Amino acid sequence: MLSHQDSSVNLNKGVFITTYGCQMNVNDTERMFSLLEMANYSPVSTPEEASLIIINSCSVREKPVHKVRSEVGRYRKLKQNNPGLKIGVGGCVAQQEKKKLLKDIPLLDFVFGTDAIDKLPQIISDVEADEGKVVSAKFEHQKPYQIETLVRNPGVSTFVNITKGCDNFCTFCVVPFTRGRERSRTMSELITDINSLTKRGVKEVTLVGQNVNSYLSSCGSDFPKLLKTVAKDTDIERIRYTTCHPKDFNEDLVEVLAEHTDKIPEYIHLPVQSGNSAVLERMNRGYTREQYFQKINMIKNILPHAVFSTDIIVGFPGETEEQFMDTYTMLEQVKYESIYAFTYSPRPFTKAAKFTDQVPEHEKSERLQRLFAVQKEIAMPLAKTYMDKVLQVLVEEHNEETGVSTGRSTQNKVVHFAGEKNFIGKTFPVKINKTNPMTLYGDLQND
Ligand code: SF4
Repeated sequence: MLSHQDSSVNLNKGVFITTYGCQMNVNDTERMFSLLEMANYSPVSTPEEASLIIINSCSVREKPVHKVRSEVGRYRKLKQNNPGLKIGVGGCVAQQEKKKLLKDIPLLDFVFGTDAIDKLPQIISDVEADEGKVVSAKFEHQKPYQIETLVRNPGVSTFVNITKGCDNFCTFCVVPFTRGRERSRTMSELITDINSLTKRGVKEVTLVGQNVNSYLSSCGSDFPKLLKTVAKDTDIERIRYTTCHPKDFNEDLVEVLAEHTDKIPEYIHLPVQSGNSAVLERMNRGYTREQYFQKINMIKNILPHAVFSTDIIVGFPGETEEQFMDTYTMLEQVKYESIYAFTYSPRPFTKAAKFTDQVPEHEKSERLQRLFAVQKEIAMPLAKTYMDKVLQVLVEEHNEETGVSTGRSTQNKVVHFAGEKNFIGKTFPVKINKTNPMTLYGDLQND
C-alpha cells in the first residue's frame, strides 16, 4: 500500500488517497490528485487532516473487499467527529463491486470505477451537495481513450498510459473484468504528451499498458511504429515500456529496439508465467513453451546484448511436479537477470478460480522457494559480468548525507556511485566495481 501525500500545498480542503496495486493505479492516483487540485483540494499527509478520503483499490490480492472494509473502518471515528468528511473507493474493487460496495460498507459516500476517474470532480460535488450516495462504475467501451497525462511533479522519469484494459482473458487474471476492453490512445496525443513532459524536464518515459505490444491507434499505428516515432520525433532521452505479452512480441518490434538502442534500453521483460505448454494452454496464454523460446532466440539474434526478466505463477491449478520443473529449467535456459514470481491464488470472476484441481498451499510455497533458490544461483554470476564494465546511468536521486547518486542503467540495473546533487536528470558513465543481483556500485568514469 502506498500513501500519496504532499503537505507542501495548502488550499482549503484536504484530500488523502491510499493506493493499492499496480502502476496503473499509481498513475490513476496521480490523475485523481491533479483533477482534485483543479477542484481546490490539496493533498494532505494524514487522514486526520482530510475532508476527503479516497481508497484506490486493487483486486489482484486476497480478500480485496475485506481489505477495503477494514481500511474504511479505521476512519469511522474521524467520520463520527466530522460528519462532513467524505469517503470514497475507486479502482478495481469499485469497478467490480459497484453499488454492492455501498451496501457492504455503509460508511462510504461514493464508489467510482476505473473509467470514471475524470468524473471525480463532478462526483465529489454531487456528494458534497448532499445528493446522496453516488455510484459511477460503467465501462465506457464506445468512448475513445483520450486522456492527457496529468502529473503534478513529473521528476526525471514518469509514466504515460498508452492503452487501457485487456482482451486476452488469461484464466488467472481479473484485469479484463476490472479494466474492461482494450483501448489505445492516439499516437498524436501521446507525442504531444511526451513533448510537454520533456519541456518540464522529464528525461525518461515508461509507456504503460496491460499489454503494450497490442497497442493499435485509430490511425492504424502499432506498437513498433509508436516506439519508433517517440524515439525519432521527441527529445525524450530514454523510453521504457511495460508490460509486454510474448504472443505479441514480434520481429518488427525487436528491429525498432535494435535501431534505437541509444534511447530504448536493451532490457526486455517478457512474462512467461509457466514453462509448460499444457499449463500455458490452461492459462489461455496463446503460446507454447517452444514458441516462447523461439521469441527469446529471435530477440537474442537481433539484440545480442538484451537482458531479460519475467513473471511467473507457481502452482497454477493442476500444475504437476513435472510441469513445475519445466518452469524451473526454463530459468536455467533463458538466464533471466530477475524474476517476479508468485504462488497462484484465485481471483474473483476468473475461470481458473473455478478449476477444481487447486494445488495445496504448502506445495505452491515449496515450489516457489525452489524457484527463488535456482534464480539466485543464476543471477549471481550474471551480475558479476557487469564488473569493470562502464554503464550509462540516468541519475534519479542523490543523497546529500552520503554523497551517493542513484540511477538506472540501460539494463535496468540500479547503480549507486559517488556524485553530486546536480547530477539528477543527467546521464553519466559509471564503471562498476561491486555487484549484487539487482544493485550495482561503481565510480564515475572520467575520460
Ligand atoms: S494479458 Fe493476461 S495477464 Fe495480462 S492483463 Fe491481460 S488478461 Fe491479465
